Amino acid sequence: AKARGRSGWCFFEAGMDERLAGSLRIETALRQAVAQGELLLHYQPIYCARTGRLTKAEALLRWESPQLGWVSPGRFIPVAEESSLILEVGAWVLEEAIRQVAQWRAQGWDAPVVSINVSARQFAHPGFEALLHTLLQRHGLPPRAIELELTETLLASDQEDLPALLHRLHGAGVGLSLDDFGTGYSSLSYLARFHLNTVKIDRSFVMNLQEDSRNHSLVRAIISMAHSLHLQVVAEGVESALQRAILQAEGCDYLQGYLLGRPMPAEQLHARPLALTEA
Ligand code: C2E
Ligand code: CA
Ligand code: CA
Ligand code: CA
Repeated sequence: AKARGRSGWCFFEAGMDERLAGSLRIETALRQAVAQGELLLHYQPIYCARTGRLTKAEALLRWESPQLGWVSPGRFIPVAEESSLILEVGAWVLEEAIRQVAQWRAQGWDAPVVSINVSARQFAHPGFEALLHTLLQRHGLPPRAIELELTETLLASDQEDLPALLHRLHGAGVGLSLDDFGTGYSSLSYLARFHLNTVKIDRSFVMNLQEDSRNHSLVRAIISMAHSLHLQVVAEGVESALQRAILQAEGCDYLQGYLLGRPMPAEQLHARPLALTEA
């Protein structure tokens, strides 16, 4: 940052300018990314905690820009969400994930259910539901083959027909998952209000999970509450054998994290063993 003065205020302003300039560069480069084939999906395995079977995988966006190199989704997704670019990017993700599952099935693989991250603005777009069904039909995939990962921000929107839309998707068989559970303000009320199948316990709770920790009590409470509402629970960010063991002991349904597998290209996921070995 260019220092224009000694006061903290000026440094702060310079930092803002730089961040804004960075975002503009990202936005400009991202405009061509879909058309130029610069996006791809990686898949992170999600295992059944009880049987160890590979039952789901999360599709995670990757972008290599000729101008900027690899840019992480944590950086460029928020930029895309600021503009209507997220619609184009989101539609690409949806079709690519659906195409990939269809291809796996055509290859004779009983592929895991793929969960797809959906941004609030994308979901609020009036064409979203029709697009989803068009893509499923185009690739001959039943709705049960995929799952949508929704955020609290999305559920908090004042989208008029939100409960009805979720109800229809749920009824059609599309899995609905609440991502980053526990990080927002009103997670609890959403669980009761909407038709969901799964909650994903945020990594921040799993991170400090150990015997007798407060997080342990919290995770136990989340799992029991979710189960009493007939929701399944995925724990994200599982990095250690101890975390895995605690989550299994607490009856968590699915495990996702670097301990079990990083996000990887589609071919690598297909080549994975169908089940984990015992912890
Ligand atoms: P998320 O949906 O919470 O995805 C999980 C993130 O945690 C991923 O980061 C994943 O690589 C990372 N992760 C998984 N296991 C572990 C672990 O054991 N330890 C640690 N430290 N990290 C782990 P990634 O791929 O960088 O994605 C970041 C975020 O970008 C995602 O967070 C999601 O909010 C967003 N995102 C990614 N792909 C898409 C997409 O296709 N559409 C939308 N709308 N958002 C996306
Ligand atoms: Ca997610
Ligand atoms: Ca998450
Ligand atoms: Ca997250």
